[in-house]
Amino acid sequence: MTLRVGVIGGGQLARMMIAPAVELGVELSVLAEGEGMSAALAATAVGDYRDAGTVLAFAERVDVVTFDHEHVPQPVLRALVEAGVAVHPGPDALRFAQDKLVMRRRLAELGAPQPDWAAVSDTSELRAFLDDHGGRAVVKTPRGGYDGKGVKVVSRPEEVADWFADFGGEALLAEELVVFRRELAQQVARRPSGGMAAYPVVETVQRDGVCAEVLAPAPGASEKLVEVAARLGMSIADGLGVTGMLAVELFETEDDRILVNELAMRPHNSGHWTQDGAVTSQFEQHLRAVLDLPLGATDPTADAAVMVNILGGPQGEEITGRFAAAMDAHPLARIHTYGKAPRPGRKVGHVNVTGDDIDEAVYEARAAAAFFD
Ligand code: ADP
Repeated sequence: MTLRVGVIGGGQLARMMIAPAVELGVELSVLAEGEGMSAALAATAVGDYRDAGTVLAFAERVDVVTFDHEHVPQPVLRALVEAGVAVHPGPDALRFAQDKLVMRRRLAELGAPQPDWAAVSDTSELRAFLDDHGGRAVVKTPRGGYDGKGVKVVSRPEEVADWFADFGGEALLAEELVVFRRELAQQVARRPSGGMAAYPVVETVQRDGVCAEVLAPAPGASEKLVEVAARLGMSIADGLGVTGMLAVELFETEDDRILVNELAMRPHNSGHWTQDGAVTSQFEQHLRAVLDLPLGATDPTADAAVMVNILGGPQGEEITGRFAAAMDAHPLARIHTYGKAPRPGRKVGHVNVTGDDIDEAVYEARAAAAFFD
């Protein structure tokens, strides 16, 4: 019997599940937000993921529903569950990825290390938090933020007065401004029946709040760090009841602590390197996990893997127009494109390079990605 997975959302994460689905013999269908999206090749339906009727109709023809993003509203998720649809990750887990305040509260209950934080409902509460944290803090909108939007470093409460107004009296999240050495990410897969697998912790480099590069495994990571990060990722996956892929974004502090920044319950940019640098890619692993199939090995296939995002792309030009030159100059580079029109700052593809030497891999990947500037 063919296994059928339905993905809600037609972005690049859904697109990158297509190839492994074909290899596994899984029938993949996508509910895309519009025509011509990244995952158009597998889009069997186009419609609004906020509409329960649309999502229920889409779910009728699949065995499991999963996601390309975390924005499907809770009532729609609950309607799916009530209709007997297998939803992975389920609504109870997804709410921790949909609301950063709900996440902080739950992580505190689990005893996970995280920055000092508070829910602040007005400027005077934020002023009190600033006074307690050296006069600076990071303020976040609990919902709807991505790629650094909805995140602001402030020293005066008035800087986010408009956010308090927009959120109609709902609390914002205030966090201590963490002075970190670097950012890391831990990926874990978890099956509905409980089995888990952790990838080696990676270093992520952000520019302007957007992931620019990933180095895997995190350079210089001690065995201890690899073990601590994997255990933390698995305890969060277990504690939150996550099914499918979980990415835990981390700060590594100057005094060698790791603190949880945020969570994503789906394949994640920090795991794109696994397509060419691990035995099982995160996209295949996600499909295995949501279908409750045995998980694949997470071992790296080379000493070093580097992923460089193609941000923006060649303006006014098809990205594929640059293929031949990049391939000619960098035969070691694996170029992945998302079928999206280039636009400043937009993630339109990435390059993976693996090898024995991290510095050489970084050089190759950056140089190949530069062909698409
Ligand atoms: P988004 O949901 O938009 O990805 P994040 O919460 O991951 O937002 O924050 C985006 C970036 O802002 C992080 O990758 C990090 O570089 C910085 N940042 C977030 N929280 C803090 C913090 N408490 N201290 C220092 N930097 C932070």
